Amino acid sequence: MPKIVVKFGGSNLRSQEEIHRIVQVVKNYNQPLIVVVSAFYGVTNYLVDALEKAPHDEEIANRTVQYLFDLKIGSLNYFIKDATLLSRTISLIREQLDELKNYLHGIALTGDASKALEDHVLSYGEKLSAIFLNGIFSSQGLESKVSFPETIGLITDGEFGNASADFHLSTNHVRESLNEDLIYVIPGFYGISQDQKTTLFGRGGSDYAAAAIARCVGATSLDIWKDVNGFLSSDPKLVDNPVLIEKLSYNEAAELAYFGAKILHPRTVEPLTDPRISVRIFNIYGELDVSSPLTIISREKSVLSGIVKSVTYSDEFGLLKLKGPGVGLKPGILAKVTTALHLAGINISSVLTSQISINILLAKKDLQNAYAVVSAIELSAVGKLQIEDDISIVAAVGHGITDNYGIAARIFTALATDGINVLMSCSGASPIVSYYLVQTSDRTASVRAIHQEFFEK
Ligand code: ASP
Ligand code: MG
Repeated sequence: MPKIVVKFGGSNLRSQEEIHRIVQVVKNYNQPLIVVVSAFYGVTNYLVDALEKAPHDEEIANRTVQYLFDLKIGSLNYFIKDATLLSRTISLIREQLDELKNYLHGIALTGDASKALEDHVLSYGEKLSAIFLNGIFSSQGLESKVSFPETIGLITDGEFGNASADFHLSTNHVRESLNEDLIYVIPGFYGISQDQKTTLFGRGGSDYAAAAIARCVGATSLDIWKDVNGFLSSDPKLVDNPVLIEKLSYNEAAELAYFGAKILHPRTVEPLTDPRISVRIFNIYGELDVSSPLTIISREKSVLSGIVKSVTYSDEFGLLKLKGPGVGLKPGILAKVTTALHLAGINISSVLTSQISINILLAKKDLQNAYAVVSAIELSAVGKLQIEDDISIVAAVGHGITDNYGIAARIFTALATDGINVLMSCSGASPIVSYYLVQTSDRTASVRAIHQEFFEK
């Protein structure tokens, strides 16, 4: 029977009320499913913190597993009335926690953790959630089974911290492993390298893991349950009357996520585009009607009369500026800089150049490292190297943005009317995005001004 892949995030696992709702959702589907689950809310951050402390703190191992156990036990006792099922679930959880404790203990003893070990430690949040949810499902009369990425053969390219699924190696095995008509519960966030090492798909990567599995099994859709009302025309914390976006194309969803929309991991649609599997977004606090998604992301490219579908922002980018009177005409500078950044494992998000300045857009967290790396190269044409980290990006996304005149003009006018200075802008790099760099102190006003121009007039 064709399967639906259903993903629940950490923010769906915060309270017993939400867990009740998850159970109800799964019952409402009334068909075999593949459920992919994230760690409990905050657990991955907790593990990141434990990893940082572990080399100098022998007690962290005990404290971490105690914390994680306490986080689960209340709900297990509450939901699972069958003593045998309860003790089986608890002992599976304890098994995982014992492993985790040994790894953290090992880090304390050696004072060191490899990238492989870090990825492995961080994967326990998801593994615990999967065992937990499977216990709850079984207690509610649902026929379910836990499977881990390593047993279903979700193989990756082996890059720690930022892996991609290898579909040539994964598809058949994953599909055959998940062919029974029941509910599979699978931890998201990681796959396994060819040499059997845990490799994470990056922070927030459970969405991508779910998408990868959906592709392998040829799912009818990937359903992502959130705690918000689908994709909106902007962040409801910033604007008063955001409008629901009912339909997005794969590319629009990817660009929105890239430029800061927290609702989806930016790489989620990658595995789904070729096989044309739709993503459907639901709200766990909503109707729980599994046939009425709030937003559908598919290959359909719709152009709205107002063109712009959503205004998003990110505070997570910064600029590395290479200044010198002739940098724009001097060959070879970019080649040297990009090679050095690449070798340092730093990703470049965009490059905007002029005759006297090369501006490299990077993740803010990489700025200092990028500065050090580029400072170390011999670049005679560059007089000054500078970092700007007090910037934000505000982006308007929608099919038709670069094919229609006047959109950028309206954005510039809206910003200027509110006295906002645009530091830099870019249209046309992608046919569906126009983005603006502003001072972070102007970010909220910028989002509001653009949203007002396109949605509140
Ligand atoms: N738990 C992981 C994270 O916090 C993956 C996810 O939630 O998607 O990044
Ligand atoms: Mg997430």
